[in-house]
Amino acid sequence: MHRQALVSAHSSINSGKYTTFQQVTCPIMPKHLLAVWPQIQQSLQGVGQVVLLLDYDGTLAPIVDRPDLARMPRQTQEALVELKALTSPEPDLVIGIITARSLEDVSARVGIDGLLYAGNHGLEIRGPNLEFVHAKALKIKGSVDQVYLRLKEELAIHPGAFAEHKGLSLTVHYRLVDDERVAAVKDTVDKTVRTAVAIGDLVVSPGKMALEIRPNIAWDKGSAITAIVAALGTQPPDSNPPVRDGLVMYFGDDLPDEAGFAAAQDTGGMGIFVGTSEQSTSAHYRLDSPQQVGQTLHLIRQIFRQSA
Ligand SMILES: [Mg+2]
Repeated sequence: MHRQALVSAHSSINSGKYTTFQQVTCPIMPKHLLAVWPQIQQSLQGVGQVVLLLDYDGTLAPIVDRPDLARMPRQTQEALVELKALTSPEPDLVIGIITARSLEDVSARVGIDGLLYAGNHGLEIRGPNLEFVHAKALKIKGSVDQVYLRLKEELAIHPGAFAEHKGLSLTVHYRLVDDERVAAVKDTVDKTVRTAVAIGDLVVSPGKMALEIRPNIAWDKGSAITAIVAALGTQPPDSNPPVRDGLVMYFGDDLPDEAGFAAAQDTGGMGIFVGTSEQSTSAHYRLDSPQQVGQTLHLIRQIFRQSA
């Protein structure tokens, strides 16, 4: 159901005018994280370890036409650097970036040592005491390389469209393509990857003005979060026996992040969707923009500064 329809259904229930609306099963409306910050602050102060996981594009860094020009706002970068410094060497805060970009790309782009970086939707993860590459993704890499070479040739006829090689996967960007040519770009991609998809090597999924071409492996950002949390030994505060009580927060802005929200929420943690209230999400919390993600990081920094 469209978010706007949900809003009117809720207000109808509240006004008591249309009792039949109560029959409708509505997903939970995400709460604005900053509107309930005092409660969030209490939760953060009450746990032994905070596992702060964030997507990069559209979450930490605003979306731009050329993905190679995406940068975090200066305040966000500063907040991350200070958070890292405040919580070293005691690992009472783990900061990780989980992105569709390659591991090399995101770690160079963020440029902060000691963070956890997960590239290619978490098919590769690197961080303090953690090194992981999905074995099946390595096997399929040859197929990814072949498709990339063919896409480079085939996309040349579409101005503005280009393929990005991310090691274990590819992204075809069409943000710079004229609207009336987008369908033709998708057609070209479809034809080019058809064989690799048919033999079960690759899958194509939509992204923001992009197509993601990934190894056909049941692995998403949610799997990556589950693997990271298991490796850290983080447990919900009420788990028995508690290994290390912790709170997982995952921030994301796009469809692939929904699996991340679910995984974070399954651990008793929080999914935080970055976007407008009109967009549908399973996350329990919401922020308007990457700027508000930066603002939230500053607020978290204040909590850790007080306890330092
Ligand atoms: Mg994103």
